[in-house]
Amino acid sequence: MRVGVLGAGQLGWMLGLAGIPLGLRFRFLDPNPDSPAAAVGELVVAEYDDRKALARFVKGLDVVTFEFENVPAAALKAFEGHVISWPTPQALAASQDRLAEKSLFDRLSIPTARFAEVSSFEDLGRAVASLGLPAVLKTRRFGYDGKGQYVLRGIDEIPAAWSALGRQPLIIESFVPFERELSMIAVRARNGEVVTYPLIENHHAGGILRESIAPAPRVSPAIAQAAIEHVTRLLDKLEYIGVLTVEFFESADGKLLANEMAPRVHNSGHWTIEGSACSQFENHLRALCGFPLGSTECTGFSRMLNLIGDIPPADAVLAVPGAHLHDYGKEPREGRKVGHVTVCGATARECASRAAEIRARCGMPKD
Ligand code: AMP
Repeated sequence: MRVGVLGAGQLGWMLGLAGIPLGLRFRFLDPNPDSPAAAVGELVVAEYDDRKALARFVKGLDVVTFEFENVPAAALKAFEGHVISWPTPQALAASQDRLAEKSLFDRLSIPTARFAEVSSFEDLGRAVASLGLPAVLKTRRFGYDGKGQYVLRGIDEIPAAWSALGRQPLIIESFVPFERELSMIAVRARNGEVVTYPLIENHHAGGILRESIAPAPRVSPAIAQAAIEHVTRLLDKLEYIGVLTVEFFESADGKLLANEMAPRVHNSGHWTIEGSACSQFENHLRALCGFPLGSTECTGFSRMLNLIGDIPPADAVLAVPGAHLHDYGKEPREGRKVGHVTVCGATARECASRAAEIRARCGMPKD
């Protein structure tokens, strides 16, 4: 089968690496001629709303998928009637707008922080009065890695928050004093079967994911069960096909609140390549192509360390037992995700000490 992927970054590259052994062949579309995924398939270099290029891209494909959620409407139009594209426009629309996303969670009785729509300065004042402070003001669209957000701690900050973000549709949420951030990666097949990976614990710095721990330690059976139920309800409601990721906050009193979803393979699931029986990338492709889903069972304990800015020497990483280096082949640049390391161990303790050794050898900040 021929699979098309909109976007040819590292997620596309890892989809290609997972799919080629299954006999799949790939075509990517991306404006950047130096995209990592060019190494694993044909690359059409064009803007995402270039109709002619989209027509060329879609020719002969069996299925199309996306590497990112802000897919332009022009692209979806170009695929209509030519090829099946998953996730569906419905799922993409819900994840492109934080208000639509939180409202969908609400309708499905998936708990979230309290939230309100903000379309004017007066709305903002009213919402702060009703939600209380602290609160987080966010742009409804195109926010990622903590961009487009303002944490409001005092009433006197309202004008500054409005002048920072006020020219676009906004949402305001109560600030959640969370204990930790968790994510769940789930896959739904064409026949409606759903499988989930265990909850993952995620650590961010400067708005960027730095480390994922899988499975997340100290997860109560009630939290694990709640996450599976929430994610399955979402997948079923959206009649979703492929991998969906949901990010949660766990509060100090053991409650799970959904923060956002990503209708795609996710950075917090990179460990599944070595740490589970079937990776998120392979399972996404299996779902898309109508193949049986693979087991999501963990093969041990894993930690994924993002490589931000540049790649450490391979020999320093690989000297640590259980370490796997993934170099995306991107130009080094401050703040850019250029690769990751997954380290596996037979016990959580062994895995943690191997991760600490990698950090020390590669001059990365401590845990
Ligand atoms: P987001 O873009 O919604 O994923 O937010 C980026 C980061 O900001 C999250 O990973 C959290 O660390 C933090 N954050 C977002 N929303 C809230 C909230 N309502 N309360 C506390 N922290 C938040």
